[in-house]
Amino acid sequence: MTALPAIQPLRPEDVVAACDVGIVTARKVVASIHQRFVDDVGAQVPRNARRVEVDAIAARYRVGALRVVTREASAVDPFVKYVLECEDGARIETVRIPLEKPGRFVVCVSSQVGCAIGCAFCATGRLGLSRNLEAWEIVEQVRVVRRELPPGTRVHGVVFQGMGEPLANVDRVMQAIGVLHDPCGHAIEQRNITVCTVGVPSGIRRLAASGLRVRLGVSIASARPEVRRSLVPVQRSNPLDEVLEAAAEFVEVTGDAPMFAITPLAGVNTADADADALAEIVRAFKARTGVAPRLSLVPYNPIGDDDPFGRASDEEYDRFHKRLAAIGVPVVRRYSGGGDVGAACGQLVARATRGA
Ligand code: SF4
Repeated sequence: MTALPAIQPLRPEDVVAACDVGIVTARKVVASIHQRFVDDVGAQVPRNARRVEVDAIAARYRVGALRVVTREASAVDPFVKYVLECEDGARIETVRIPLEKPGRFVVCVSSQVGCAIGCAFCATGRLGLSRNLEAWEIVEQVRVVRRELPPGTRVHGVVFQGMGEPLANVDRVMQAIGVLHDPCGHAIEQRNITVCTVGVPSGIRRLAASGLRVRLGVSIASARPEVRRSLVPVQRSNPLDEVLEAAAEFVEVTGDAPMFAITPLAGVNTADADADALAEIVRAFKARTGVAPRLSLVPYNPIGDDDPFGRASDEEYDRFHKRLAAIGVPVVRRYSGGGDVGAACGQLVARATRGA
């Protein structure tokens, strides 16, 4: 017997089309799954829903599951890293990130099992790509985190910065965003959802054309092409100029300032020439779009024993930061927590290995 498809990513309109049921029942059933964490579609009839319609939905769909293999809370900051097992045994990681405002969280989700891009400073890139995640598997990461939240707290936003390049899986990522935003799904404001890419121009354009009003983050790595090439292999096929042109088109559609992220690596991308090149692309972007990108420095996190890089020293960082500030480029230093449990940026490898 063929397994029924999972229901999580479906919006009520999709359920209506697939099951020939009324929108009221479809909304009630979808909301019961995402908001009250019901795992058995036909087990109960939500208030104002019709039994016969619930049965029709249950005959067509089931709720797929991601099994929590481990959940590790950081001892130094309130991050929690989840290792989750998909139904085929593949493992992914999801991180619950606290916001400054108490009781609010952002969920950092994975979009692929592994990643094909192979950025030199990222542990996920060492795994290679196993497969894309399905849209429901992306949404389910949020549901897993959300069902464990203490009462009175909530998921405020989602960031696509876990395992994988989200714009290499853009169709499913957009489908997942639709469910994350849907009032019967997770009801998360689109502007609180950020898609971070290392640079897939076609994906940026697809996202812009989709009508979704999410935020865009671009990992710059280095604004000097020769340095970027050594850090981000995709620079060969997708040069930064093309990525930034697509980002400019995105801004023309959404009007929202993108975030440019850079990870200062000791002795690699923090020279004055790197700061000057970075300032130049920020200036050019503002001149092109009228919108100044937000520049974010993300501390480097160790990725293993044979780590080829080191975190820029405080002195090196300050010099880089001051040089950018002197040229008039505002910079924020991002806090990257959860390093002690391998939950920080660039560290996600689903360490509790497959099938263990
Ligand atoms: S930084 Fe992102 S795109 Fe680069 S290897 Fe890691 S997961 Fe892939």
